[in-house]
Amino acid sequence: MSKVKAVRAAFVGIIAALVFMSGCARTAEAPVTPQAAQIASGSEQTKQITKTPKYLFVFIGDGMSYVQVNAAKVYRGNNTSGEVATGNLNFTAFPVAGVATTHDATSFCPDSASTATSISCGVKTHSGVIGMEVDKTTVAESITEQLSREKGMKIGIVSSVTINHATPAAFYAHVSSRNDYYDIAMQMAESGFDYFAGGTISQAEGKDGQTNAFDVLQSKGYTIADTPEEIRALSAGSGKVYAVSPVLQDSGAMPYALDRTEDQLSLADFVKKGIELLDNENGFFLMCESGKVDWACHANDAMSAIHDVVDFEESIQAALDFAASHPDETLILVTGDHETGGMTIGYAATGYDTAFSILDRQNMSYVAFDSFIARLKDENPNLALEDVLPVIKANFGLMSASDPDANIPANAPFVMTPMEYAKFAAAFDESMKASANRTQNEETALLYGGYDPLSVTLTHIINNKAGIGWTSYAHTGTPVPIYATGAGAEIFSGAYDNTDIYKKLAQVAGL
Ligand SMILES: [Zn+2]
Repeated sequence: MSKVKAVRAAFVGIIAALVFMSGCARTAEAPVTPQAAQIASGSEQTKQITKTPKYLFVFIGDGMSYVQVNAAKVYRGNNTSGEVATGNLNFTAFPVAGVATTHDATSFCPDSASTATSISCGVKTHSGVIGMEVDKTTVAESITEQLSREKGMKIGIVSSVTINHATPAAFYAHVSSRNDYYDIAMQMAESGFDYFAGGTISQAEGKDGQTNAFDVLQSKGYTIADTPEEIRALSAGSGKVYAVSPVLQDSGAMPYALDRTEDQLSLADFVKKGIELLDNENGFFLMCESGKVDWACHANDAMSAIHDVVDFEESIQAALDFAASHPDETLILVTGDHETGGMTIGYAATGYDTAFSILDRQNMSYVAFDSFIARLKDENPNLALEDVLPVIKANFGLMSASDPDANIPANAPFVMTPMEYAKFAAAFDESMKASANRTQNEETALLYGGYDPLSVTLTHIINNKAGIGWTSYAHTGTPVPIYATGAGAEIFSGAYDNTDIYKKLAQVAGL
């Protein structure tokens, strides 16, 4: 495809995405020719900034595109015919909205390493590369490094997943492979940044003879706080800090909001503590990632994704509360790095209807359910379909048509149809096999995507009943929204590329 055609195709895609999105009415008025688009984009770059923020917040929902955001609004909304309305999220009400393309140098379905690098450093690079240009050698300096050096700002990095995972790493590290976890952790220790918080460090132990990353961090002056008491006791005088979530769920990440108990620290708690520790006369930059929207969408688990989006609102609220006392000096951005799962509102079998209320029957994430089933299997290696039906009824609210519960009409929405039941029964059989013995073919790859066959089938069934569809277990090429409020927010309106997020941040911060 020629460059002009490619630009036109991309632009038509953006407009199409905008037209069906609520909350972006201002950008739907954008011009419709590629040439006009370039002019518009250029004028965005030179827009006058009325105020220079001293406190910058960037919230990134990993895998959070328009559908993940709108699904949370539909979940909160009213589905009564004649009164259909979306519920609110604090950030979708921000006064400025924009849209960004997310492709990287190698793909229209990019990964978090390259997209976070575009946001943090303003360059396009290969999928899998962090903080380096497309040659995988040249270091691209990040907005955080520049703000720290040139403005003396304090820097905070918060993530619900491991702190050396791709998205947080793009704000302090430069590696040619996102899998170089130990090297990333070493660069974290070298960064001198003031506050890290959330998930633990992946591969902290390194290889033979390497010093544990936690010991290296301590030798570089970091206080490691990993109990609720230690974390709560942190104060402005604590120096450089790494606050590690005392509760970790999967792969060193914080629990899904859906699984979190009242007494556990939330992502918002880490943001609030960060604000307390970072506040100083030179200002600060805080990046907070909600990383498991992506993980839930990879697994096609809408309820877990929606709850993490809704929970993200609490973290963003902490920034809004801070901004209320520093209204002319605070900028808050909320965006995503890419879409995950090809999530849609609307499914072939439900046509023009949705029934999101059925999602409330799911009371744990697929991860928590997998562990639950694993425990049952340990207790009873001959677990039968009849044994798990009550478990599925209790945790997903799904029933077989022959369920003895007399109060349930056969056509109730949470009763599995014969086709759904057959899928569930086949998935159960696969799931009960040791993973090495499971059927590996084209069909099972599409049906289960490498996830536990039982839980992914249950989330598919309940999501489809709700009117939610999925097209992938990977990332997709859907653009992402940017919501902005506060000092300098106005330059984030319009349609642009994710590398422009960095450029606009640098411009607004006076770099
Ligand atoms: Zn992902």
